Parts: sequence; C-alpha cells; structure tokens
Amino acid sequence: MHPEEKKVLVTGGAGFLGSHLCDRLVEAGADVLCVDNFFTGSKGNIEHLLGHKRFELMRHDVTFPLYVEVDQIYNLACPASPVHYQFDPVQTTKTSVHGAINMLGLAKRVKARILQASTSEVYGDPEIHPQTEDYWGRVNPVGIRSCYDEGKRCAETLFFDYWRQHNLEIKVMRIFNTYGPRMHPNDGRVVSNFIVQALKGEPITIYGDGTQTRSFCYVDDLVEGMLRLMASPPDFTGPVNIGNPGEFTMIELAEKILKQVGGRSTLIFRPLPADDPRQRQPNIDLARNKLGWQPTVPLEDGLKNTIAYFRRLLKP
Ligand code: NAD
Ligand code: UDP
Ligand code: UDP
Repeated sequence: MHPEEKKVLVTGGAGFLGSHLCDRLVEAGADVLCVDNFFTGSKGNIEHLLGHKRFELMRHDVTFPLYVEVDQIYNLACPASPVHYQFDPVQTTKTSVHGAINMLGLAKRVKARILQASTSEVYGDPEIHPQTEDYWGRVNPVGIRSCYDEGKRCAETLFFDYWRQHNLEIKVMRIFNTYGPRMHPNDGRVVSNFIVQALKGEPITIYGDGTQTRSFCYVDDLVEGMLRLMASPPDFTGPVNIGNPGEFTMIELAEKILKQVGGRSTLIFRPLPADDPRQRQPNIDLARNKLGWQPTVPLEDGLKNTIAYFRRLLKP
C-alpha cells in the first residue's frame, strides 16, 4: 500500500515525531489530516504545511470520539516526555487508552489500517538486554511512570484484541528514544536538556551517576521505519522495535554534545528519578528481516542537525 492518494490521519501530528511524519506523507502524495490538542505539540511544527492543499489541521482531543473518513491512521497522540506525561497523569492514561479505543473504533468503521506508536517503556526496567519483542517487560504498575507505561501497554492490548476480535489491520511499533529537530526545548528529555544547557553555557544535569544507558535514534530514520511498517504485508502486525542499537551512557552523551557545542558547561549530578531504567537497547533483527529497515544516521551527525536547530530556536 502506497501513501499516494490515500487519506491519512495522523493523531499527535503537531508534535515532534508527528510533524516529521506529516512532512513525509505530504511529500509522498498523501492527503493528510493532522489531529492534535496542542498539549505538547505546536502550530510552529507544522506551520510550513498549513497552506498546502493536501494538508489539513484539526484541533481535537483523541479521548473524545472522532468521525472522519480515512484510509490509514497513525496514532501518535500522547505526551512522550516524563515531565509532560507526569503533569496530568490521569489524562495521560486516558489519552493512551480512550484514544486507542476511539481510533480503533474509527478504524473498524471505515476499515482503515492503523498503526500505534508504542514505546520501549513497555519493557520497563528490563532484565534482558538488548530487548527483543517477545520479552514481556518489568513495569511498575503503581509508580510515577506507570500512567505512561501501563497506558501504552493497555493500548497494545486493545490493538491486538481489535485484531483478534474484529480482524483489523494493525501495526504496533515500539519506539526507542528518538531525537532531532522540533523536540520541545523544555520537555526535560535528555538530548534536548543537554543541548539547551550546553548552548546556554549552563551546567549539564546528569541524573544519578550517569552510567545508565539509552540508545538514540535520529528522527528521519524513525519515520522511515514507521512508513515501512505501515506499508508492510497485512499479516505483519508487530510489535516491532524501531530504534538505534548504538548504546551510550548519559556521561558519554554529555561529552559528545559538549564536544560539538564547545563552551564552558560543567557536569553536575542530580538525584536519579524513581523507576528510571538502568539500560536500554533495541534488538532490531525483526525490523531488519521484515521491513528491510535499519538506522543510517550516526549519533554525531544527528546531534549536529539537532544542535543547529536549537541554536536557531534560542537565538534572541
Ligand atoms: P510529542 O509530545 O512531541 O507529541 C505528542 C503529540 O500528541 C503532541 O503534539 C500533543 O499535543 C499531542 N497530544 C497529546 N495528547 C493528545 C490528545 N489527548 N489528543 C490529541 N493530541 C494529543 O511527542 P513525540 O516524541 O512526538 O511522540 C509521539 C508518539 O511517539 C507518542 O505516542 C510517544 O509516546 C511515542 N514515542 C516517542 C518516543 C520518543 O523518543 N520521541 C519514544 C517512544 C514512543
Ligand atoms: N468511534 C469513533 N469514531 C468512529 C467510530 C467509533 O470515535 O468513527 C469511537 C466510539 O465513540 C466508540 C469507540 O470508538 O466508543 C469504539 O468503537 P467500537 O465500534 O469498537 O465500539 P462501540 O461503539 O460498540 O463501543
Ligand atoms: N537524564 C539526565 N539528565 C537530564 C534528563 C535526563 O541524566 O537532564 C537521564 C534520565 O534520568 C534517563 C535518561 O537521561 O536515565 C533518558 O531520559 P529521557 O527522559 O530522555 O528518556 P527516558 O527515561 O524516557 O528513556
């Protein structure tokens, strides 16, 4: 299935990942309906698309029903950074769960193919490393990250039950930490925090001792994986990991950013937030085999583009 001539709904389309996805879909000839309540997204992320004849923006909260006619649905609506998803945790769970029910109900009525932006957080603080899709995860159900983690886990359950019960064409994508231009400057995620701090010459805040690891995927690679998953044969549902297996400690990340930005920032150590996973790295064999996908942008190159973006954004 090619995106050309298709009517495609992107929920959370004014966010970081959603706006890049809208760009790619419009470019490929799709008719794009971007739905967003602007909780963490912004019109700035998609303003360059606003005059385009194949792009339409609708302010709407996915926890409420939505009646539109579309061929494909990318369900990305959900705050993704701990600072934002913990701001109103009940709304976060509602967005994942009620949002999934409404979008699945819509997909069922119009017979649309539907993709869920799930997350590596479904693995929690993992006991196996790197994480494969058949690992069930180790998630605290009552902690401060649970609204996000359990919301996303329940959304996966709903996707698979609509598939089993109603034969929906579903695609579940487990996204690992992704970075790039249009990240929110104040969302507290590690890449944006470190870059903004380095550009302002402020101390770099390392939580814990900085030996915890993450694997960072550049946004262009991620969106390519998302498009390939949507275009994959109907019998391939996922869940499939999409991320970059390159794994770094937070100290290494800080050093890489400081090397590129220069300046005089020092490292300061702050308490580790509760339930912060120790390590995270995707096993992407399934994506390689089924989608012919693997990341192509090295961390240094992706950081260069992201630093250039924040430099422009922070210019007085
Ligand atoms: P983001 O916060 O930039 O984008 C989320 C978008 O959803 C925003 O535009 C926000 O306004 C919108 N939104 C939130 N609640 C909504 C609601 N109730 N109704 C309508 N719109 C709503 O985050 P992102 O990084 O672009 O993440 C996009 C998706 O990918 C999320 O579902 C997130 O969980 C998932 N994801 C992202 C990452 C990552 O590293 N960026 C990793 C794993 C999963
Ligand atoms: N829904 C929607 N748009 C549609 C169809 C359904 O938002 O085009 C919502 C509707 O509000 C419903 C939910 O999706 O609560 C689940 O729909 P489904 O048909 O699966 O279940 P039911 O309507 O029986 O509750
Ligand atoms: N982190 C950090 N300093 C910051 C922000 C985050 O050391 O200023 C750490 C955080 O504790 C976590 C890692 O960086 O171990 C990634 O955090 P982020 O919020 O970006 O993503 P997530 O924890 O959801 O993977």
